[in-house]
Amino acid sequence: MNLFDHLVVAFLPLTPKPVIAYFAKPYIAGATLDEGADCVRRLNAENTMATIDVLGEDVFTRDEAIAAREECKRVLAKITQQKLDSNISLKLTQLGLKIDKTFCQANVEEIVASAKTAGNFVRIDMEDHTVTDDTLEVFRAVKNKYDNVGIVIQAYLKRSEEDVRHLAAERANVRLCKGIYVEPAEIAFKGRREVQQNYVRLLKILLEAGSYVGIATHDDILLSSARQIVMDLKLTPQQYEFQMLLGVRPERRRELVSEGHRMRVYTPYGSHWYAYSVRRLKENPSMAGHVFKAILGFK
Ligand SMILES: Cc1cc2nc3c(=O)[nH]c(=O)nc-3n(C[C@H](O)[C@H](O)[C@H](O)COP(=O)(O)OP(=O)(O)OC[C@H]3O[C@@H](n4cnc5c(N)ncnc54)[C@H](O)[C@@H]3O)c2cc1C
Repeated sequence: MNLFDHLVVAFLPLTPKPVIAYFAKPYIAGATLDEGADCVRRLNAENTMATIDVLGEDVFTRDEAIAAREECKRVLAKITQQKLDSNISLKLTQLGLKIDKTFCQANVEEIVASAKTAGNFVRIDMEDHTVTDDTLEVFRAVKNKYDNVGIVIQAYLKRSEEDVRHLAAERANVRLCKGIYVEPAEIAFKGRREVQQNYVRLLKILLEAGSYVGIATHDDILLSSARQIVMDLKLTPQQYEFQMLLGVRPERRRELVSEGHRMRVYTPYGSHWYAYSVRRLKENPSMAGHVFKAILGFK
């Protein structure tokens, strides 16, 4: 990223919401569950699975957390009714983690129990480092009761190798990503190469131990390494899946599907689109200039 891009990215939070909404459109399935389900149907028609995310995070009232829990249960019901090939991803701060951990855990358990009845699966997303321990703790507590739940590990965190070794020993179902939050250098790798190297190290540990891994990346270097590891370990396509975000590198995604890999697309919908959209725009290498021109009214 050049200096200009860095500046635009720094000013994204000050960008008018309609501008953010316009540029973030490809990353969001829509405002309603029906729009989310339509998007999943289109993905399924391309031989691609989905994981639906009800947009939202950092709720501070019990009512909001309960509303999010109920919406997640509606998502699961919709998946079953419409025979969609999708599971669901959750953010624990949307389900009350910052209000009361026990309350949050009960909400997650209710969703995971619903999913279990429907023969479905729940992925717990990973948020910033202030909630990593609590997220892992809630995951473990729920996993002790249900087998249809998985977690996310971020390769940029220095602690992740230790976390992964424990998860691999439990043969947990793990989505491995680089990580999206801005974290301090004391706890996180900052260099692109360092993060890639750690990603590959963690992926090997998990796959060699027999964990099912959601290989979540759009990075060509990581995609090549992952395909090599999968080949070296002689894994079948049922032992792992690739995962990408809605709106990011769809052509690369289709190539992986045509090579015979399983692919799942993270499909967010809902009215709380803002924080997610800013994170996506910050990662889009070509977006900064477009956003800047739009703010200034240039064509
Ligand atoms: C399915 C899925 C689930 C995720 N869940 C979590 C989670 O729970 N917690 C968490 O912290 N992070 C999560 N992430 C985000 C992840 O940590 C990264 O921030 C994100 O995937 C970008 O990293 P990358 O590996 O694709 O590499 P990058 O180097 O960032 O991207 C590689 C290439 O992909 C393209 N690209 C990437 N992002 C964009 C974009 N927004 N717009 C346009 N092009 C883009 C560019 O061509 C870029 O050069 C998830 C990612 C995926 C795919």
